[in-house]
Amino acid sequence: MTGQDMTGQDMTGRDLHELAGKQAALGEVRGAPGPDPVNETMIRHWLEAMGDANPAYLERGVAPPAMSQVWTMPGLARARQATPVDDVLAALDAGGYTGVVATDCDQTYHRYARVGERLTPGTRFTSLAGPKKTALGEGYFVTWTVVWYAEDDSPVAEMMFRVLKFRPRERRQPYPLKPAAGRDTEFFWEGVRRRELRIQRCLDCGQLRHPPGPLCPSCRSANRGHTVATGEGTVYSYVVHHHPPVPGRETPYVVAVVELPEGVRIVGNIVNCRIDEVRIGMPVRVTYQAMDDELVLPMWAPREARC
Ligand code: ZN
Repeated sequence: MTGQDMTGQDMTGRDLHELAGKQAALGEVRGAPGPDPVNETMIRHWLEAMGDANPAYLERGVAPPAMSQVWTMPGLARARQATPVDDVLAALDAGGYTGVVATDCDQTYHRYARVGERLTPGTRFTSLAGPKKTALGEGYFVTWTVVWYAEDDSPVAEMMFRVLKFRPRERRQPYPLKPAAGRDTEFFWEGVRRRELRIQRCLDCGQLRHPPGPLCPSCRSANRGHTVATGEGTVYSYVVHHHPPVPGRETPYVVAVVELPEGVRIVGNIVNCRIDEVRIGMPVRVTYQAMDDELVLPMWAPREARC
């Protein structure tokens, strides 16, 4: 069975783990010897590229250990040698886990590779872990090891390598009507990000006000803080917007003035409710709607499941 035979629909998490088990059971699979023996030319290029001026390598005729992988790289013209990892990676690609990022690389050096030696890689598929939710998206961690052997079969170096194969998140189109957040309103949007409905409060006379502004309309104080509303309210008034079209929105939709028990009114959309079911006095509760990958807007949904 090869990864290319499988489609995303056919491959479940259980299938992936079964395939991983089979590939692990193959044990270490030897590849072809490197195309060139360890040589001074390549060592000198590497040292120059890395800015390593240590003369000891070329004087002693040994390669820097970090070069181990270099000696068995296939180059552009040669066909890549199959390894037990390939089928797992191909199956993950076919299943939609097309993103890849290296997460771990651990190298162990047993001895210096000497000029003239030809190294052979042995690859062992180690483990598949997942699916896991990560910041990049849902994915699987794939781990394998490579050992580089000299002609006498002695190990020169080895490497544990781990990648995260993830399902790239589809980025949503940015919502075109971003609310302006300034110094007077930043606390409100910070609240929305924390799923808090914040109402501005005068720190001198205690009066709540919305929308936020720089001065208290009662006592003219610029000393301001906020309180967190319960998130409940009732529809005080509303309109149904049919026209004109609004970028990023589908018409018709309801724009309501919601009265909060805290004593202020706030404008927002009514959602999760048929338009002809919206009524003045209807009890609503705040709900947070993601408009794109960044912007969240507070909206209002009926408190009782009536629609
Ligand atoms: Zn005041």
